[in-house]
Amino acid sequence: MVAAIAAADELARPAKRRLAVAAEEKAPTPDGVRWDKAPCRFCGTGCHVQVGTRNGRVVAIAGDRKAEVNKGLLCVKGYHVGLALYGSDRLTKPLLRKNGKLEPISWEQALDIVAKRIAQNPAGFAFYGSGQWTIPEGYAALKLVKGGLGTNQIEANARLCMSSAVTGFMATYGVDEPAGCYDDLDRCDVLITWGNNPAEMHPVLFSRFIDRRTRGEKVTLIEMGTRRTRTSQFADKSLTFKPHTDLAIANGIAHLLLTNGTFDKDFVEKHCGFRGEDEKKTLYGKAITFEEYKARMAEYTPEKVEQISGVPAKEIRALADLFGRRDIRITSLWCMGFNQHTKGTAINALVHGIHLLSGHFGKPGDAPTSLTGQPSACGTVREVGTLCHLLPGGLAVANADDRKEAEHVWNVPPGRVSDKIGYHTVEMFRRFSTPKDKGGDIDTVWVQTTNPGQSLPNVHALFEPSRKIEGKFLIASDVYPTATTRAADLVLPSALWVEKNGMFGNSERRTQQWFKMVDPPGEARADVWQIIAVARRLFELGFAGMKDKDGQFLFRFTKDGKEVPVWDHRRFFETNVDEALFDEYRHFSTHHRKDLAPYSEYVKARGLRWPVVKQPDGTWQETKFRFSEGEDPYVQKGKGVQFYQSFTKDDRAQIWFHAYEPPPEGPDGDYPFWLCTGRVIEHWHTGTLTMRIPQLQRAMPEAYVELHRADAQRLGIHDGEVVTLETRRGRLDLPAWIDGRGSPPEGSLFVPFFDERLLVNELTLEAHDPFSKQPDYKKCAARVRKRVARPTP
Ligand code: SF4
Repeated sequence: MVAAIAAADELARPAKRRLAVAAEEKAPTPDGVRWDKAPCRFCGTGCHVQVGTRNGRVVAIAGDRKAEVNKGLLCVKGYHVGLALYGSDRLTKPLLRKNGKLEPISWEQALDIVAKRIAQNPAGFAFYGSGQWTIPEGYAALKLVKGGLGTNQIEANARLCMSSAVTGFMATYGVDEPAGCYDDLDRCDVLITWGNNPAEMHPVLFSRFIDRRTRGEKVTLIEMGTRRTRTSQFADKSLTFKPHTDLAIANGIAHLLLTNGTFDKDFVEKHCGFRGEDEKKTLYGKAITFEEYKARMAEYTPEKVEQISGVPAKEIRALADLFGRRDIRITSLWCMGFNQHTKGTAINALVHGIHLLSGHFGKPGDAPTSLTGQPSACGTVREVGTLCHLLPGGLAVANADDRKEAEHVWNVPPGRVSDKIGYHTVEMFRRFSTPKDKGGDIDTVWVQTTNPGQSLPNVHALFEPSRKIEGKFLIASDVYPTATTRAADLVLPSALWVEKNGMFGNSERRTQQWFKMVDPPGEARADVWQIIAVARRLFELGFAGMKDKDGQFLFRFTKDGKEVPVWDHRRFFETNVDEALFDEYRHFSTHHRKDLAPYSEYVKARGLRWPVVKQPDGTWQETKFRFSEGEDPYVQKGKGVQFYQSFTKDDRAQIWFHAYEPPPEGPDGDYPFWLCTGRVIEHWHTGTLTMRIPQLQRAMPEAYVELHRADAQRLGIHDGEVVTLETRRGRLDLPAWIDGRGSPPEGSLFVPFFDERLLVNELTLEAHDPFSKQPDYKKCAARVRKRVARPTP
């Protein structure tokens, strides 16, 4: 299906520039449209699209039939992804705040300002990016900070959406990212979604599973969540639990596997160890015996779990019976419902534990799998390591050998990479929003490809104060005006998606590549160029960190043996900067068996899942199922399953015990409702792109609060009426939606976060998981009532 999206002509790009970045020149079709491949710009599913361009504009989008992920299908966002480029208010010039107003300046002035801010206090500078960064962009930002400035003050918004998944994988397998892949959805007999709504959030993946029913296959969907959603409508069984009680449910299933003797004794004896939290709550905890594990699980009887969670004991028994069967294959899926949780690491580890305990692991269709919300949360944040404690390829700043390896790849002097872990996201913005004399030692933040002014939790406390404190300076690179750019001191206009080369890594370890197809508007420029150009300014200012051991510029690109001054934008396209950065980054990928192929292999493919290992015939082989013999090249012959990254160095994965604990804040007399936040199918992230796409904006023009009919009747609230929602952190007026698309149970409310005019994150908690530092956006105490007049300021 082709969605024609624009027809206006524009001058073609200069041929020389296009040849510099494109792998091959394809003949246009008879209607003058040229088609190229690219992954979708939106969610972590990583669908591939065919992008049709004519006369320098994207004019059509089609699902890519050659793509294994989506086999030609797209969701409503994907079909309209090209229009994200053509909103009428694109940022086209650098803007500097003067006398309270953003005014145009030149790129030369802008680069000088950024470089001087960094140079005057490198320790007070922090970079904040996202899972929307391409892999080369994230790698360049990380290298600038960790290899150039010698600090670790870099974070990405994946801290707010994925970090508990990371810590769950690390604590279980010793290494991040799912062992399974999307092929599990084609092979499982039972799919369990845990606090997850893939019908709206990962619709193409959901269709991949549900379509099996229309082909006559018998597949079972069990949905567990805190409200009824579009996913519930397709479920064979839908179980609603009280917020935060998923830990008790997971423990209840494990309890029954143990007491019924239906766990997979052979798998556990061969491949697993047991772990419990230690006093200091370190990520790897302490070893416990099977008997201790069993004893700790003993209290989670189905009746007790029912009492805690509200899920009937017979349903807990039914779930345990399913996991106890060896003749079926079970896939678990989860996303933010698990991760945005003050017990996020714990619930991730517990579900891995159920799969390990029951042996539902390592065969196609048997897998615990987390999904990502952003197109490169895995590729750029988790794999490149754009977080305050990581180095590329899963290396860690706390490890001396890992720091040495980074210094070797970057050819920088020993000691350049700091062992001092930087501030995680909440802490970074807390310090940015605190005066210097009160510990606010971050004074400059450069934000690229994200919108913390809208997406941070408790924005009143974490973001807004920084805009009023003398000496704090916010730089924001983006494509449209956002809550962040409107508050920024300096705004840098960025190129978007196919206006630049790029690479993303999706939720199933698949690295995907695309080439620039059209020019960005006005003076908008690629984020990777912005980073290199600032680095060069620092070099010219004599900043020692921008030189390697040989005195050369840290970001040196060559063509035919000669250096290309890519920091000069007129020369940026003379070489493929992405390719050079990626092939340098590849050096890191073998340390934890996350091997990547050379850039040129990704040019040919619709993505490859790592580890990608060279075969004797010279071809590069991807891996679908990690840790499984015959699939994963790193599993030794005869092992069957081998957890070769085990942190206990014995090839074993760890089954954890974590106790259920009450949430940090819950309903009470003053705030009697649960408030949950989330997303809708039409909009992506903070809506800055999708709200510019007329079809999506019209389909879902504003946020709302879902509430149960019985609560609405009791409070005298009518459908569509504007109501006042309050928490201990703020208040918001929103239209009520009763019996809408989603349906929360009595005593619960739901608000999506895409709408910057109705900023629900003014209300949410900043309380976070102690291991992953990920905040809990999914539940806090709230009250709702008929709209009340605001006090006069
Ligand atoms: S499912 Fe995600 S990646 Fe696929 S088309 Fe939709 S938004 Fe794009």
